[in-house]
Amino acid sequence: MPRFQQYIDGQFEDGDFTFLSIDPATGAPWAVLPEARESDVDRAVQAAHRALKQGAWPKTTATARGKLLYRLADLVSENASKLAQLETQDTGKIIRETTAQIQYVAEFYRYYAGLADKIEGMYLPIDKADMETWVRREPIGVVAAVVPWNSQLFLSAVKIGPALAAGCTIVLKASEDGPTPLLELARLIHEAGFPAGCVNIITGYGETCGAALTRHPKVAHIAFTGGPAAARKVVQNASENFASTSLELGGKSPLIVFADADLESAANAQVAGIFAATGQSCVAASRLVVEASVKDRFVEILAAKAKAIRIGAPSDFGTEVGPLCTERQRRHISSVVEASAASGADVIYGGKALDRPGYFFEPTILDCSKVRAPSLETELFGPVLSVVGFETEDEAVAIANDTAFGLSAGVFTQNLTRAHRLTRALDAGTVWLNTYRAVSPLAPFGGHGMSGHGREGGMASVLAFTKTKTVWLRTSDGSFPDPFIMR
Ligand code: NAD
Repeated sequence: MPRFQQYIDGQFEDGDFTFLSIDPATGAPWAVLPEARESDVDRAVQAAHRALKQGAWPKTTATARGKLLYRLADLVSENASKLAQLETQDTGKIIRETTAQIQYVAEFYRYYAGLADKIEGMYLPIDKADMETWVRREPIGVVAAVVPWNSQLFLSAVKIGPALAAGCTIVLKASEDGPTPLLELARLIHEAGFPAGCVNIITGYGETCGAALTRHPKVAHIAFTGGPAAARKVVQNASENFASTSLELGGKSPLIVFADADLESAANAQVAGIFAATGQSCVAASRLVVEASVKDRFVEILAAKAKAIRIGAPSDFGTEVGPLCTERQRRHISSVVEASAASGADVIYGGKALDRPGYFFEPTILDCSKVRAPSLETELFGPVLSVVGFETEDEAVAIANDTAFGLSAGVFTQNLTRAHRLTRALDAGTVWLNTYRAVSPLAPFGGHGMSGHGREGGMASVLAFTKTKTVWLRTSDGSFPDPFIMR
């Protein structure tokens, strides 16, 4: 069985403890992973802290930091096929998507590389004749990054990239499920030439490794992506040391389809929204809010598309829906689908785990028009769509906003003025109009409400990894004036 290593202080190590990684397509173990515990976490954070304060990194110019990130981006492109294969084997995400996504991950690193020397301070036209005052932007400090199992290469790029561009150092905890692509990424980071300790990549369980990392006193900022339950604990840990946090959490995103929409196009967006990545996407469009007059027709189109989906081995380029990442996840989905059907939701398509090796679950469509089924409330993180009809625009908005989450929303309509009204009315960090599941390094991404706070993407996401320092210089000679009056 292949053995993977963790990366601490520029060294690759087996670790004192190990656990097995499971191939979701077969349910069989396939790799041995180091399990970082408290002492490994401490060594990694201490290494990151040393690299922040001493040695080559603090002396590296912003332009040189950018060049290192460009080098990393090139290495990611050159090793795209290996990284994509690892992600597919370890998480079950289909090779079609991992292959396309990894090239875009390299573009994210290029974007942050370009921003490294555009982080400017500020000169203040201060209201005192004998003072020069300016504001420096400095790295916020040691960053702890924690990522979930879906899209680990992508979700780590939006943390590693801006953190390094800003001059921070970082300890990244990969998920306990499917972490091997990140342990491979560590090799590329090493090859790119970042000084030892700048980036440390470890893997282990949330309650042990994740908790030790997020409550470490030398961590200044925590960039977390995952679910609300773990996020709550992370925020509690962060509060012990007053570390700042950015939280990218889940969603229960609506796709609203009006009767005037191009229904074929909207149905494809709905397929992309809920069945792509086997629904294991934070922006999964898991609630279809469709105008009553076209509901039956639209659901019929969707069911035909669901039926035509090619389910199979994630390593096969022809496969469109692969397995879920874990058996735990499949059990969760099965139980919510069963509870929803028992509560009165109609199962229009699918609804069951597939009887084959691996963690496969049928693309599923539930009509929840007559009942507030559990599938409408819970983030399932699987290929399960809950459908609700509406009569008026106000009703559509009310249904769409009737959730504690607020990550994303989609609207399909040909009516321009209505589209504008909805972008204002919908409570979500991203609204897609006549499209869905589009991302870019240039576009801020993040949630409202239970979907978290902080933004990844765009210049502001780099500034989030900085802190300001205001500097005052008195230009007049002579002794310090009246010490009992504030200047
Ligand atoms: P999770 O919250 O269980 O785990 C996420 C990460 O947190 C893992 O690395 C885990 O080990 C760690 N963790 C767990 N408990 C911890 C603790 N007490 N302290 C520190 N770390 C801890 O999530 P998951 O099941 O791996 O992933 C699915 C969730 O991630 C979904 O809710 C999904 O919506 C969310 N997600 C959000 C985005 C986004 O950008 N908004 C993107 C992808 C996934």
